[in-house]
Amino acid sequence: MKALVYLGSGSVEIRERQFPDIARRDDVLVRVTGTGVCGTDRKILLGRFPARPGVVLGHEAVGVVEATGPDVTTVRPADRVVVNPTLFCGGCPPCRRGATNFCQHKRGTEVGVDRDGTYADYVVLPERFTERLPEGMRFRQAVLVEPLACVLNNVLAADVSFGDTVAVLGAGPIGVLTGLVAARRARRVVVVESDPYRLATAKAAFTHVVDGGGADPTDTVVAAGDGQRPEVVFDTTGTAVERALRLVADGGRVVGMGFDATYSTLMTPMYLTSHGISLIGAGDYRADVFPVAVDLARELPLESLVTHEFPLERHQDAFGLLAWREAGYGAMKVVIRSDPAPVGADGWPASDR
Ligand SMILES: [Zn+2]
Ligand SMILES: [Zn+2]
Repeated sequence: MKALVYLGSGSVEIRERQFPDIARRDDVLVRVTGTGVCGTDRKILLGRFPARPGVVLGHEAVGVVEATGPDVTTVRPADRVVVNPTLFCGGCPPCRRGATNFCQHKRGTEVGVDRDGTYADYVVLPERFTERLPEGMRFRQAVLVEPLACVLNNVLAADVSFGDTVAVLGAGPIGVLTGLVAARRARRVVVVESDPYRLATAKAAFTHVVDGGGADPTDTVVAAGDGQRPEVVFDTTGTAVERALRLVADGGRVVGMGFDATYSTLMTPMYLTSHGISLIGAGDYRADVFPVAVDLARELPLESLVTHEFPLERHQDAFGLLAWREAGYGAMKVVIRSDPAPVGADGWPASDR
């Protein structure tokens, strides 16, 4: 089968890979329909997030079950599924207290990072990491379930309440999803973005949008919050925690999202103490959040976030739209299609019906 393989130091190539076989009794073979390009994929290619050379990239995948091992009971061939790429063992201390995203045995299990991922025709995963999609869920909704699960976990960690004004730094897919989820509870959501393309799309989705380019936007954000600093600030860029700390109200919460190993900042811990600020890192998501994200995906306007789709062979065009080598963004969520059949009215390729 075809697969997009990470060669190290920012380069990828389509290689012929061995067809993955069902090896365990609980394995599920999924024919991949498409995979969303994640900010993490982009950072892997830019050398700002570590991945294992030789691995097949891709983790935000939906597809159709092709075959199952003899012990599989929750999915059947022809079921449409979304892949839960955050594998965990279920037995270590963090897993036993529910913090499966901090499983101690993650090494070699992170799909599309150090275990073969989904920019490929097929992928094999244990049953508990494939989630059947509800009847009628469209492909372009389903492909955002995994990022939505990350967002849910981080919004939960921020404990957003009805009185809160929330600022979201960055209006990529994660920023927009964070704004949409937070808005189900918060009093007001202010989105901050500097990229012209993403600024324009944010303005279509939110009432309060601030241009974060140029000067420090703190005053504009405060003005958008009726003169109040936000009680909660999400940094979805992975590189703006310092700005978030300057922006947040006394007693507020800053949530660091986004994965960028090259960003660091100096911090005066007394600033947290004297202003009563909580700095929160919540990681991706606990396993129990994933089925919630599947349900919530039906309630949010997700389809419009998928702005571009490319077949596997055109991966360079896909990555090229995502601020590649200092060009600006030209897309929101880009999907790489393993199955390039034309999409029908229900959003699925003819071959998946
Ligand atoms: Zn992702
Ligand atoms: Zn574990």
